[in-house]
Amino acid sequence: MNPNPYAWIEKSLDTVRRADWYRSPQSIESCPGPAVKLGNRRLINFASNDYLGLAGDDRLIQAAVAATKEFGTGATGSRLLSGHRDLHRQLEQAIANLKQTEDALVFSSGYLANLGAIASVAGKRDLILSDKYNHSSLKNGAALSGATVLEYDRSHLEDLKAKLEQNRAKYRKCLIITDSVFSMDGDLCPLPQLLALAEKFNCMVLVDEAHATGVFGASGAGCAEHFGCTGLPLIQVGTLSKALGSLGGYVAGSAALIDFLRNRAATWIYTTALTPADTAAALEAVRIVQQEPERRSRLQQNIETFKYCATNRQLPISHSLSPIFSLPLKDAATALTAGSKLKEMGIFAPAIRPPTVSVSRIRISLMATHELAHLLQLVEALGEVLSFDSMLGAHRAPLD
Ligand SMILES: *Cc1c(COP(=O)(O)O)cnc(C)c1O
Repeated sequence: MNPNPYAWIEKSLDTVRRADWYRSPQSIESCPGPAVKLGNRRLINFASNDYLGLAGDDRLIQAAVAATKEFGTGATGSRLLSGHRDLHRQLEQAIANLKQTEDALVFSSGYLANLGAIASVAGKRDLILSDKYNHSSLKNGAALSGATVLEYDRSHLEDLKAKLEQNRAKYRKCLIITDSVFSMDGDLCPLPQLLALAEKFNCMVLVDEAHATGVFGASGAGCAEHFGCTGLPLIQVGTLSKALGSLGGYVAGSAALIDFLRNRAATWIYTTALTPADTAAALEAVRIVQQEPERRSRLQQNIETFKYCATNRQLPISHSLSPIFSLPLKDAATALTAGSKLKEMGIFAPAIRPPTVSVSRIRISLMATHELAHLLQLVEALGEVLSFDSMLGAHRAPLD
């Protein structure tokens, strides 16, 4: 019998299943919102990145429909060759205005924005310092660049400083890359301290505002605004797919940086432009983010209410300023059991397991459109899940 060169795939999947790491997507059968239909059940949704509740907003839907009717469903080519529309440029100017940067460039996804930006500004003779809990797109962007990559621990910035002291002089350029809100723990990067170190050691800084845009800062510009770092030399990356309720990514920064990326970023040059629908929806979302700060206030209120109730109920949740919370659990199997028990109780909050995180957990993300009753039901259900046998892992935060 001939050997099967693909036999390893089933074996590999078996290993994944045995470790309780196996994943598969679940279908949501309704419009995005604080409650969704999943497998014929209505569940309160704590699994969404739609922090401001814009993905199902009528105004975004209307904008997408109008753009589709006017410009069609596809952009038909890359921006440089045939896909560019005025709408793309309007969105870029709106993002630059939100971020208070000279310019911005829109990519087909946040993932591609990170790959393109990092691999364009750093190369073989350069050094990248990367937070060890950075998003996959930052890590893969660093790998793609060919630069030497060193990971650092943001809770001990002396670690970063020591690495800079030891290594900076050996390299031509140096880039520090970090999430601004960490997507699994919900904590914020120490941006002002990172910028101070960057200045001292002549480094560029790239900050990924995926979970912060629309959520942090008085005008919703993100953590850079929250920390008073607006206008400082920074490469800001983000996504149109979270609080902005659409699809796509962006880089915002100096006019020279953006011009450089238009000429160098392979993930921008060699890919089809964003669809008219996604572009128009994102443009409408940026307008709403700037004009309706009450959405951010409602989200902030929900964060405070949830923290207060969870603390009263003595739930060992991670504490953060962001709408992202985690409940650390003993192991992957426990997290899966907790996830399905929550579902039985009408709560959709996913189990997150290795290799995404090192400590298995239930991840909770809050939205501006959650009502008090939703939050109370969540706290009740989490309390009940934890009262089952030995659900809890070590209660330490994963960063300790
Ligand atoms: C979601 C996310 C991305 C990817 O953005 P997409 O637009 O979904 O590709 C990048 N970085 C971080 C930190 C994210 O959370």
